[in-house]
Amino acid sequence: MTQSLDQIPVATLKGVGPKVAEKLAKVGVISIQDVLFHLPMRYQDRSRVTPLASVQVGVEAVIEGEIKGCSVVMGRRRSLVCKIQDRTGLATLRFFHFTASQKNNLTTGDRLRCFGEARRGASGIEFYHPEYQLIDSAYTIDQPEQLTPVYPSTEGMHQAGWRKLVKQALTMLGPQQLREWLPRDIGPIATTSLAEAIRFLHHPPVDADMTLLAAGQHPIQQRLAFEELMAHHLSLLQLRNIAQQQPAPRLNMQGELLPRFLDGLPFALTNAQQKVQNEILTDIASELPMLRLVQGDVGSGKTVIAAIAACAAISSDYQVAIMAPTEILAEQHLHNFSNWFTPLGVKVGWLSGRVKGKKRQDQLKLISSGEAKVIVGTHALFQEEVHFAKLGLAIIDEQHRFGVHQRLALREKGAHLGRYPHQLIMTATPIPRTLAMSAYADLDCSIIDELPPGRTPVNTVVMANNKRDAVIERIRESCRDGRQAYWVCTLIEESDQLQAQAAEDTYAELTKQLNGLAVGLVHGRLKAQEKADIMARFKAHELQLLVATTVIEVGVDVPNASLMIIENPERLGLAQLHQLRGRVGRGSVASHCVLMYQTPLSKQGKERLLAMRQSNDGFYIAEKDLELRGPGEVLGTRQTGLMQFKVADLSRDSSLLEPVKQAAEELVSRHPECIEGVVTRWLPEATRYGHA
Ligand code: ADP
Ligand code: MG
Repeated sequence: MTQSLDQIPVATLKGVGPKVAEKLAKVGVISIQDVLFHLPMRYQDRSRVTPLASVQVGVEAVIEGEIKGCSVVMGRRRSLVCKIQDRTGLATLRFFHFTASQKNNLTTGDRLRCFGEARRGASGIEFYHPEYQLIDSAYTIDQPEQLTPVYPSTEGMHQAGWRKLVKQALTMLGPQQLREWLPRDIGPIATTSLAEAIRFLHHPPVDADMTLLAAGQHPIQQRLAFEELMAHHLSLLQLRNIAQQQPAPRLNMQGELLPRFLDGLPFALTNAQQKVQNEILTDIASELPMLRLVQGDVGSGKTVIAAIAACAAISSDYQVAIMAPTEILAEQHLHNFSNWFTPLGVKVGWLSGRVKGKKRQDQLKLISSGEAKVIVGTHALFQEEVHFAKLGLAIIDEQHRFGVHQRLALREKGAHLGRYPHQLIMTATPIPRTLAMSAYADLDCSIIDELPPGRTPVNTVVMANNKRDAVIERIRESCRDGRQAYWVCTLIEESDQLQAQAAEDTYAELTKQLNGLAVGLVHGRLKAQEKADIMARFKAHELQLLVATTVIEVGVDVPNASLMIIENPERLGLAQLHQLRGRVGRGSVASHCVLMYQTPLSKQGKERLLAMRQSNDGFYIAEKDLELRGPGEVLGTRQTGLMQFKVADLSRDSSLLEPVKQAAEELVSRHPECIEGVVTRWLPEATRYGHA
């Protein structure tokens, strides 16, 4: 048998030196097999010439015609314009970058063949920077017999380069070479072998259905998408498997802690909270480590549930760690958990990057001695210097599907006498069902599908910022009626400093315009104590209007605040907007949220704000966000390569997810020996969930 294609390095191909190999490695292409699985993202039909009269705007086409004239035109931008004509009509080729020799070579009367996308230009149908070739009567140009693939690329790699690599790799692909990892009785029956499918997708015949291909709905694409989704799913199941190999401590609710905790709450749990609480308590009473995701809309009361789980750990004499992705979120948890647990005689520890020097040493000691039972913190909790005495439960508040490696690290840290902590993951915002099914396949999922009583839906209006004065007037009225309002300033920059500056400017302006109202300001640059003071004054109604950056996204709870203005909402993701908006609508009066956008607004921007206006349901909004921005953005993993697919598309292929899940489970139980092969074929090492 010949050497298997995943063992042959890509450097054995012609044209691949160390430099190119490095570039290829960046996109996960290491072996010949990886080249074969680097599939086109779309196709061009260069197989036939389109008559000029039939060219359609927005469609790529090969055209051919006689040069009627060529000149440099001075317009808004200087350009070289070349007119060509065939029997059916005329078209204009336009070049904004061109050389003198290029101009000289385009001689009137010569014939030209071009490829490009038609658009509507100043002179009718135009092609900007088309590829072109003079048709010399002595030569004929090869007309391809297949559709031309366009590959996803990386800097420094051209399409021609990819095509050459693929061509070579395909000659090495024998019919038996790609092992079918999925047994025939699992998943849909494949009528095409893997090798044929790969060959087809690199070079579909010209009569292949372009519409299906473009939509990713071709049966051959669907066959591969199924396998790819399987690979992702299986890799998450592997992760789960690793985490469940060692036992966890049994955490039983004992003694008076829980009743006392519940007594202290000013409300009763909702039915949904009770249901989720029971699911968690059942899990952690067992030695099989819990891996559970709790989802719920903003304000559905996830934190209380986390605290109840903590009660079980504490009463079983174990520690609980609560980790949040940002300092502000962590502070908010610290605030809640201290308020709840300190009066019950449970010591709460605190560790973040900002805790330094002697204070840090003290906290580290509290953690390692076991004196602190509840430990709240940021990523600082994984640092080497942190030693837990006896960690029974790790609660992780995630903004995104980021924390796989961190989660594993926290688990390692918690190892105590051969037992590993249970894990409870909470999402800060709802995740679309399809995404949850695939991105969190390693976790059991609980959903808090009910809001506490007494919330009134927020009425959302969308308006342009030329209505600013009217909006400001509305704040005055609302405050005169005894209500309070937020004004949220947004910036795209991550910089705390710029954000703070923007908020300060707005604060100055509003203080002036709303002369007579008590206005406050919070932003991320303030010290924790200053922030807390301002928030306390707002809560006590000493302040009527609070100007803020998105720091108030989390944890602010002032039921009397019933109006929120969000400036430039088009800059934020829908999930973040929804989270912000969740700060109002907490009392019994009708609340309003004004999304005051900067004109002009893009079409997508408009659609996104419309989704906000249409619905207060975080799950609906998350689905919309997925549709409009794609999974990488929604999960925040675009940079990390997680959840990136070669063929599959989570929104488009959502109907495959349920069968994929079933097939994956079957494979695990009946053919575990096939898992590794499928996973490594589709997922480059660097993005494997279970790998560091
Ligand atoms: P999220 O799910 O967004 O994290 P929180 O846990 O912060 O929500 O809860 C939001 C607010 O609702 C908090 O002020 C919390 O005290 C309150 N809350 C939680 N559960 C209930 C309930 N069952 N009844 C009334 N209020 C509740
Ligand atoms: Mg929360």
